[in-house]
Amino acid sequence: MDAKRVTPEEFKKEAAKPGTKSRFLINVGELSIGSEVLIPVVVVRGKKDGPKVYVGAGTHAEETGSIEAVKRFSAQLNPDDVSGTIVVVPLQNVPAYAFRSRLYPLDAPTVADLFGHPKGDLKGILTERVLFTLVECIGTGANFALDVHSTHLDSINYPFTFVFNTGAEAPDVQKKRLELARAVGNEIIWINDGGSKGGFTWLMNSKGCPTLSFESGEGWRNLEPFPSILMRGVKNFCKAAGALKGAPEKPSIQIEVTKRAEIISSRGGMSNVYVKPGQYVSTGQVVAEVRDMFDDVLEELKTPVSGIIQRVSLLPTVATGARLCNVSITDKGKEWEGRTVPELEKKITMAGWARQR
Ligand SMILES: [Zn+2]
Repeated sequence: MDAKRVTPEEFKKEAAKPGTKSRFLINVGELSIGSEVLIPVVVVRGKKDGPKVYVGAGTHAEETGSIEAVKRFSAQLNPDDVSGTIVVVPLQNVPAYAFRSRLYPLDAPTVADLFGHPKGDLKGILTERVLFTLVECIGTGANFALDVHSTHLDSINYPFTFVFNTGAEAPDVQKKRLELARAVGNEIIWINDGGSKGGFTWLMNSKGCPTLSFESGEGWRNLEPFPSILMRGVKNFCKAAGALKGAPEKPSIQIEVTKRAEIISSRGGMSNVYVKPGQYVSTGQVVAEVRDMFDDVLEELKTPVSGIIQRVSLLPTVATGARLCNVSITDKGKEWEGRTVPELEKKITMAGWARQR
């Protein structure tokens, strides 16, 4: 199927006919070598009425597991299964992807984060042009929206959904968002009072469209089971929004956390991290060490809180300030350890293991 090439403003005028699936490439500019920056979009309109749901990935373009999941989801979508319209953007931060980078590195005077940049602007820096296109041209009129992530290049992430309460969301948006966050079906929901004011999710929420994000996986890689876990979440989201048939798949327990603790090295050297994503740890437990080149221990890092290990660093070269792992704070250790682990989560593994302590 050919993709129709359009400008952001032309895309806005496109009206999908019932029972159709269409591909678009939206031109937002050119790279320095003259090649076009084209945002891929798939629009699937069912024959039945229903909501407009936006699903995007690759806001942070190094998070390739999210891109893999969302492009596979869009390829499987059939208009016969859809009520309303599902608009899919498998890769949102196209210019950053060209550099295999989290953010587009050539924005000036500073690199802008599509996730937290305050505004979109069709005549601004490239990231602002992308943000404007996503919010005002592709996402405009959406009833619900989803931004799928994986994690930074240095780490592996246990699946979780996050909801940022920045104060800019209307109470009904907040309520619906929380409902959707639970329906997505990850075992951990991080509800954070704060969060940056800017970026796609914040702009969409501020406009009254309940929008959330979830993440799991590894940076730079798209290995299973993570794309399947993310696809499960996307399908659950679309079911809860009323755009796909069926009830969302729920895990045996869901833990809502409001705080996380980052375990950060104060020394530089080589790290050994002794915990895995999804593992419950208790206050005072050693989670990592930093050693020098004589193999002497420079620093032993203990968790100051009890909770579930969420993200673990995979890269051992560390300087002062390196984030070795983080802990979603909860005292529900017994429930967590006694739960029935979902089939896909059972398959989460890390290659190799840390040395014996
Ligand atoms: Zn991200």
